[in-house]
Amino acid sequence: MYKKMNSINDLHALAQLTNGFRKSNKTIGLVPTMGALHEGHLSLVDQALQETDETIVTIFVNPSQFAAGEDLDQYPRTLEADLEKLAEVGAQHVFVPTADLVYPPGFSTSITPPQVAARLEGEFRPTHFSGVATVVLKLFNMTRADVAFFGQKDYQQVCVLRAMTADLNVNVQMRVCPIVREADGLALSSRNRYLDADQRKTALVLYQTLQHTRDLITGGLNDGFEIVTEMRQMLIDGGVDNIDYAVVANPQTLETADFIDGPVVALVAAHVGKTRLIDNLMIQ
Ligand code: AMP
Repeated sequence: MYKKMNSINDLHALAQLTNGFRKSNKTIGLVPTMGALHEGHLSLVDQALQETDETIVTIFVNPSQFAAGEDLDQYPRTLEADLEKLAEVGAQHVFVPTADLVYPPGFSTSITPPQVAARLEGEFRPTHFSGVATVVLKLFNMTRADVAFFGQKDYQQVCVLRAMTADLNVNVQMRVCPIVREADGLALSSRNRYLDADQRKTALVLYQTLQHTRDLITGGLNDGFEIVTEMRQMLIDGGVDNIDYAVVANPQTLETADFIDGPVVALVAAHVGKTRLIDNLMIQ
């Protein structure tokens, strides 16, 4: 039997709960997710359980971060399985709001995301980070989180949220947890379930490209253009259908690096079939 988990879906119950935590000086850890949980999400929950007194996991497929034509309607929704997984790892509280609760009639405020949102993902999904920043700020406020846990898998999202919390004096500490991968290197993603067997094999080329990029740079290649040319070629040879971006960039600003003389992050976004995959690797 799993330990009992507290499932919350209204704001009053959530406020009562968090007021209690505050009064008893308990720290609140927040793990925001869109559900379809896998070991990557659960690693964030583990970290939250270790670092904070009370862990609140949220499951909300946030409509405002999907543009028209993206996969909002198809996005996997597996609530029962998610709740079982969370109970199994010992999550104490799960908040599952409806879209109406998060965006009630008349809702009209949104965050203009910081500058770091404009490049990379921002070029291909121009409204995405406004939706992310708005919902994350709302979740911070709703849960009264002290510490929030995010995955490095969404590297630019972390940059955006760090800048937002600094710019707006948001009193929530951010923790970034490493990317959890399958044994063969594929970064876990809720969207991997869209891939058929052949596409699943093709998808491996994203991480292989990142590893190759690291080898090139640690081997002494420092011309950004040459590196990116190789990255793109490797992705194409590996059979991806479309590359949105393949870059080496400054780890803080995400400006692309023309000449590499310090730590960089390599980031890729590419389509395999209809599925858009992202991955990244820090290179010291
Ligand atoms: P999502 O449900 O896709 O919005 O992801 C919720 C959180 O889980 C985000 O902070 C993601 O960065 C994180 N996450 C997703 N995939 C992974 C992974 N493979 N490893 C670590 N964290 C992940």
